[in-house]
Amino acid sequence: MKGSARVVVIGGGIAGCSTLYHLTQEGWSDVVLLERNELTSGTTWHSAAQVTNFGMNQTMVGLKSHSIALYKELAEDPEYPINYHHGDGGIRLANTEAQMQGYRHFASMARGMGVEYEILDAQECARRHPLISTDRLLGGLWDGMDGDIDPAQLCQALARRARKAGAEVYRNTPVTGLTQHRDDTWTVHTDQGDITCEIVVNACGYRVNEVGAMMGVHHPVASMEHQYFLTEPIQQITDFGKRVPLLRCPIDDFYSRQEKQGLLVGFYEQDCKTWGMDGIDPKFVNALCPDDLERVMPVLENVFKRMPVLEEVGIHTIVNGPITYTIDGAPLVGPIPGKRNAFCIIGLRAGLGEGGGHGWLLAQQIVHGEACYDTWVIDPRRFVGHANVELTALKAIEDYQNEFRFHYPHEHRPAGRPAKTTPLTPVLAAEGAEFTVVNGWERVDYIKPSPDFHPSLSFNFDEAFDVVGAEIRNLTENVGLTEVSGFNRFEITGADRQTFLDRLFCGTVTKRDGRVGLGYLLNHHGMIKGEATVANLPASDRGPARVWYGSAAASETHDMDWLTDHLHTDEDVQIRGLTNDQTILVLAGPKSRAVLSACSRGDWSAAAFPWLSVRECFIGFAPATVMGVSFSGELAYEIHVPNASLYAAYLALRKAGAAFGMTLFGARAVDSMRMEKGFLHWKADLLTEFDPFETGLDRFVKLKKGEFIGKDALVKRHAAGPQRKLVTLKLDATHAPARGGASLMRGKTVVGTVTSADWGHRTGLNLAYAFVQPDLAAVGTLLTLDMYGDLIAAEVITPSPYDPEFTRMRS
Ligand SMILES: Cc1cc2nc3c(=O)[nH]c(=O)nc-3n(C[C@H](O)[C@H](O)[C@H](O)COP(=O)(O)OP(=O)(O)OC[C@H]3O[C@@H](n4cnc5c(N)ncnc54)[C@H](O)[C@@H]3O)c2cc1C
Repeated sequence: MKGSARVVVIGGGIAGCSTLYHLTQEGWSDVVLLERNELTSGTTWHSAAQVTNFGMNQTMVGLKSHSIALYKELAEDPEYPINYHHGDGGIRLANTEAQMQGYRHFASMARGMGVEYEILDAQECARRHPLISTDRLLGGLWDGMDGDIDPAQLCQALARRARKAGAEVYRNTPVTGLTQHRDDTWTVHTDQGDITCEIVVNACGYRVNEVGAMMGVHHPVASMEHQYFLTEPIQQITDFGKRVPLLRCPIDDFYSRQEKQGLLVGFYEQDCKTWGMDGIDPKFVNALCPDDLERVMPVLENVFKRMPVLEEVGIHTIVNGPITYTIDGAPLVGPIPGKRNAFCIIGLRAGLGEGGGHGWLLAQQIVHGEACYDTWVIDPRRFVGHANVELTALKAIEDYQNEFRFHYPHEHRPAGRPAKTTPLTPVLAAEGAEFTVVNGWERVDYIKPSPDFHPSLSFNFDEAFDVVGAEIRNLTENVGLTEVSGFNRFEITGADRQTFLDRLFCGTVTKRDGRVGLGYLLNHHGMIKGEATVANLPASDRGPARVWYGSAAASETHDMDWLTDHLHTDEDVQIRGLTNDQTILVLAGPKSRAVLSACSRGDWSAAAFPWLSVRECFIGFAPATVMGVSFSGELAYEIHVPNASLYAAYLALRKAGAAFGMTLFGARAVDSMRMEKGFLHWKADLLTEFDPFETGLDRFVKLKKGEFIGKDALVKRHAAGPQRKLVTLKLDATHAPARGGASLMRGKTVVGTVTSADWGHRTGLNLAYAFVQPDLAAVGTLLTLDMYGDLIAAEVITPSPYDPEFTRMRS
């Protein structure tokens, strides 16, 4: 075995083989794969190996399209052809109008990635699939690219091509330990000797945490037992004359595909089981779990009703194997949180279909620092603090029980909740709060009008619409209060803190004590990496002079890794996370100053404490740090309070607010109001696929300020002109908001993609943000939005349609 390599990939299933191959495609040939047994001896060998193009966001659709194109090319390689049934087509069934509406949205979204799904009625579903009954069936979504592949041949083909490009594969070489050195390089210990490398990749399937433990990491991945069976030949399949399409059935919890002249049918039973929670037998290799058809009997009854032919055919093989899940069902592909030079491609639950694409995006991240798509939806850093295997197992069970049933807008399923709370969570619950979940944190969504208020799950505006409208109305006329749990906060101290931050931000962010600024961080390609507020606090009895760096709740690990990765060893800078220690109360509305003055000493007048000021104070007797910032567009204050004093501060604000008509509001109201102000959300509107000029953030870029990360690339991009422009749209519809991903059309051509959308209660406008072709970004341009299959007029309007002069928040 080689003594050193640039990258060592651990694990020879689809994840590892795809990563290895794509590293060579990105130009790195000094790469090695280590496999403890034979290639594909984990989950991959017994996979049902269906390859579909369906995804619920554009990144997933794009990476699956890559898999399909790659697998087709491999299958057609005359030197090493492999079995791939490409383009048999597949149907996702539906029995409710809400499911059909979801499918129409996913069709609109996929069109932007060049993928065409078809929406079918029940009769057309039955015409395309000769074995299904139309009982309780409304229709389905047709994915013409669906097929299936031989998983072992696929991995061999990828490994073969990688080897040809210079990679090496060592089988029967278990990794037994990992040592990271001071210069961030690694020694990988195996029972065949050691190998040193710059970068390690964990691609170990269900053994992910055995290898994770070797580097002191606990990955939120849990395994579930999953079964399918293979039937004897079915005459109707032979008679059909071509391969029957794949089926995915959220109504009856099963999938099927053709296998020879019979069917492969897989189940998602309610009585499901986690696997390997107490450790995995080292001898579990090329192995299966014991058959357990008893467990799937209740599902089977419905499957037989959907495909009556199954009642007449024999079963000749049952397969029961472990399949990995994460907290939100999407894999973890990217940098390992808190580690340098370490990546993972784990938690794949549809790894055959997705593996080609995940390996592609991971290799790009390793080689170029970023992939061609924004990969946040699969980024391992997206769960912060609360992510462990116990919680993942609960979410895995819930996910498994709901397989193929997508989440509706505002749907937060109950398993594993509450994961992260503040001292106010029970207090707000008692006030009637409905909670949404933001990165594990329970956050007030709105205040329910009655305890039994449960809006329906729908893509349309739901029953909470008027409740949210009323919260906004009172806040706009009087004053409102809410808690923003989990907002990320770092305290940055040290003499070099300002020069350090200046290198990271693409604009000039204020360095003045007592002032707050907003800044954007770019990656080395000049694209948007992060957004943060910076508040400069002078030295006081609460600490030395410091910066409070605030960013989105989900960005905590992402931003911490980015900051520490770019800290020079000789810089005097210390970064400390405060997210779990401090919580924000937001006071907003024209009477918020009066409320603040009534419960906190000092001069809170506009002259003494103007917009974008920060000050340490007391709310009642609770220590607090107040910032004059607003996400609603109204006069507003962020009040940061140590968790131990949070309830005391809340009581003081409630007491003071009573005289001013103060009511509570929630995240839904905030989202509506920020849309009316042109304020953007990280990872909805702020993406690594666009630079700050394309995102309309010109005023936050200062190309003349000196060096900053991403400057050279940004200058080049700026000279070449934008590829896309972010615009605000007014939609001609009152029944539903648009959804992120929906396609904007000119005739049959997709000319843009919605990033986020909501109703503006103060303006009475149905609003959306979208990236569009630059020639279509002018105010007044008329476009058409494919909104759930309906073509809706969409007009480009000036950003910030509510109070465009920003007088209210500066008042
Ligand atoms: C019954 C069933 C049906 C499925 N059907 C489908 C389907 O239709 N379509 C689809 O897309 N997906 C399907 N899947 C899921 C899919 O099979 C998996 O997502 C995929 O195989 C996972 O691949 P992997 O490379 O991540 O893991 P694995 O295939 O488990 O590979 C991990 C590798 O790492 C190696 N390894 C572990 N520890 C070490 C170590 N210390 N040193 C060196 N090597 C190590 C293992 O030996 C193993 O070879 C199915 C899964 C099951 C169980």
